[in-house]
Amino acid sequence: MVHFVGAGPGAPDLITLRGAELLKKADCIIYAGSLVNPALLEMAKADCEIHNSATMTLEQVLDVIYRMEAAGKETVRLHTGDASLFGAIREQMDALDEKGIAYDDTPGVSSFCGAAAALHAEYTLPGVSQSLIITRMAGRTPVPEKEKLSSMAKHQASMVLFLSSGLLEEVQEELLLGGYQKDTPAAIVYKATWPDEKVIRCTVGTLAQRGAEEGIRKTALLLIGDFLDSCYERSRLYDPTFTTEFREASAAKQQ
Ligand code: SAH
Repeated sequence: MVHFVGAGPGAPDLITLRGAELLKKADCIIYAGSLVNPALLEMAKADCEIHNSATMTLEQVLDVIYRMEAAGKETVRLHTGDASLFGAIREQMDALDEKGIAYDDTPGVSSFCGAAAALHAEYTLPGVSQSLIITRMAGRTPVPEKEKLSSMAKHQASMVLFLSSGLLEEVQEELLLGGYQKDTPAAIVYKATWPDEKVIRCTVGTLAQRGAEEGIRKTALLLIGDFLDSCYERSRLYDPTFTTEFREASAAKQQ
């Protein structure tokens, strides 16, 4: 059987308990070498066969899986963060479906959650934004025209850009074109939750300059929006004057 596992954003103790158990039992681990923390591989059995998919094609990954399946072995396909975001898992799952090979998928902590934690930020602040746009700048991999960054920017929602830290000039231009103000808060989070994590707070207008100054080219997320500012409304859920399914509003505060 094949187990797709989200490794989490970097810190080895941010893998899920289920993911760790699967790693410990695996006969073979194929890990996304560019971003998965190699410390996770220390959990592997002594005789576990380990492959770094950074140097492999989809076909080579599948060949390893097929070989393991033929021998009745368990394979863990270890992806960075959560595999459902820019993880290229669908093409692997479809290939396994075609061969009738069973698999499951264990979610992971995505790097956009690690980045928010590093910033002590909440994406969905009442009175500021109740939506999070997760996207990327078009690069060597195109983005559908209707999802062009400048169009997405028009929403002025909280935004996280993956795979875009090598294109900071273009990102900044598209965000401004879409309607964000130059002084809209922004942040670059490099290697969230890794020991060499770097948090750079800036604005949309200084994104490219600050990124260049700090030498950011990859393994970073770009966060944009007023959720990084200090103005917001209190949540209703914990407001004493608001009745919820679990709590009556307190009379004192009701008048
Ligand atoms: N599935 C992953 C994303 C894979 S795409 C997830 O859920 O996080 C790879 C991109 O993710 C990188 O180019 C970078 O933009 C981002 N990324 C992954 N790990 C990161 C980390 N620890 N800190 C900052 N960005 C990270």
